[in-house]
Amino acid sequence: MAARKFDVAVIGAGPGGYVCAIRCAQLGLKTVCIDRRRAPGGTCLHIGCIPSKALLHSSELWEEAQGHLGGHGIAIAGARLDLEAMMARKEKVVATLTKGVAGLLKKNRVEYVAGQARLRGGGIDVDGRRIEAAHIVVATGSEAASLPGIEIDERRILSSTGALALRRAPRRLAVIGGGYIGLEMGSVWRRLGSEVTVVEFLDRIAAGMDGEIARQLKRSLEKQGMAFRLGTALTAVEGDGDGLRLTLAPAGGKEGAGETLACDAVLMAVGRRPHSGGLGLEEAGVATDDRGRIAVDRRFATGAKGIFAIGDCVAGPMLAHKAEEEGIAVAENIAGRAGHVNYDVVPGVVYTAPEAAQLGKTEEELKAAGAGYVAGRFAMLANSRARAAGRTDGMVKVLADAKTDRVLGVHILGQAAGELAAAAAVAMEFGASAEDIARTCHAHPTFSEAMREAALAVAGRAIHA
Ligand code: FAD
Repeated sequence: MAARKFDVAVIGAGPGGYVCAIRCAQLGLKTVCIDRRRAPGGTCLHIGCIPSKALLHSSELWEEAQGHLGGHGIAIAGARLDLEAMMARKEKVVATLTKGVAGLLKKNRVEYVAGQARLRGGGIDVDGRRIEAAHIVVATGSEAASLPGIEIDERRILSSTGALALRRAPRRLAVIGGGYIGLEMGSVWRRLGSEVTVVEFLDRIAAGMDGEIARQLKRSLEKQGMAFRLGTALTAVEGDGDGLRLTLAPAGGKEGAGETLACDAVLMAVGRRPHSGGLGLEEAGVATDDRGRIAVDRRFATGAKGIFAIGDCVAGPMLAHKAEEEGIAVAENIAGRAGHVNYDVVPGVVYTAPEAAQLGKTEEELKAAGAGYVAGRFAMLANSRARAAGRTDGMVKVLADAKTDRVLGVHILGQAAGELAAAAAVAMEFGASAEDIARTCHAHPTFSEAMREAALAVAGRAIHA
């Protein structure tokens, strides 16, 4: 069969791939986007960001309806959970958005090809069809990882995909891994009725986030009823009648008695691994690192001529917006423009209640680098909007360079922290000082005033502290 010819072929239609394809088309390049899923959207839309946020939102409403609204003088008698309807709503949100992405591809004249792609002979084979392109962008994403000897069956031993599709709340759910996926899915099922225990290898949760924020987040989640076993490793999972028995041991081979934990389901949230196998990378001359990530230079070029890679399958935080930024940047580079990504200003958000959001450096990173910095803190307890809404858990911390006052990091715990982080991202992208934020008029009463107060606190002059 004759090969179809394009300027750019993108493998993978997740947020990295489809955004890249649209930008290529906007720049006048004839583009095809290939994905083995029938519909575009990738992990993010089908089994990641979107279904998890739909369930986080619905489960939070259920928790409020069950009694938390009492403090506002609202009593709801006979509130009933219809899990099937909640799951159907989640699926509808996903279906609507995937249709939307398919529509965007069509509108931009990007051809969508459904099928398994493999690099071969300078082009791509897609289930027997041949595609050739001057430029190939690999955006094949990542998949859930497990621990050696523990096989995910999506029935009782779950990955995040299984945890997004449960039809009944397990009575006892163990979550292995206190990263953002474990904390978010743990929150969903705790709200929906499970007793949740998070087992984490490290002696903290939310690794990579600022330690102070992570400690406060843990306290908040504990108050809500989530239990934590930190510094603990899972070594085995065995069936025990209808349930499971987990064997736990002190992490890192430390001395101490092992213990067992009985549960009805276990969610393996121990990280994700890049999807780079079965693509024919080696034959195409594309190198991967020791973690299976495709090696690229600053322009996202692999060692093989005309082949680029972006998103979860390359190094960096496995986040949808990071993949999108790289997708746009590589498209612009291919079109001869100067695409780039500022990795110093990529927000990271944990969508629990309260949310945790961060930008730039943590205090731990600044200390380790011996950087001179000043921290300004402001507690949500002193923010009038947080009081009015009854959402007083949390704080904002602004870290500024001790000499220049330039903002080096912003860390937020509180209602809608992810939304507040956008303002901090703009400020940091423009090289703002803490004084710049402190002199910016923020609307009253808003949660965002806590950011201004934290910026004022850098110079020791917060007003409401
Ligand atoms: P993906 O979205 O993984 O897309 C890759 C696509 O390539 C897939 O559709 C796959 O089918 C396809 N593919 C792979 N190999 C082939 C092949 N050989 N041929 C054809 N097609 C192929 N990130 C956030 O920023 N915010 C969040 O709130 C968030 N929540 C998450 C919640 C969960 C439960 C999970 C699992 C992830 C979450 N993420 C979140 C991470 C986010 O989903 C990923 O970072 C993002 O999807 C990466 O985008 P990508 O385009 O690199 O890859």
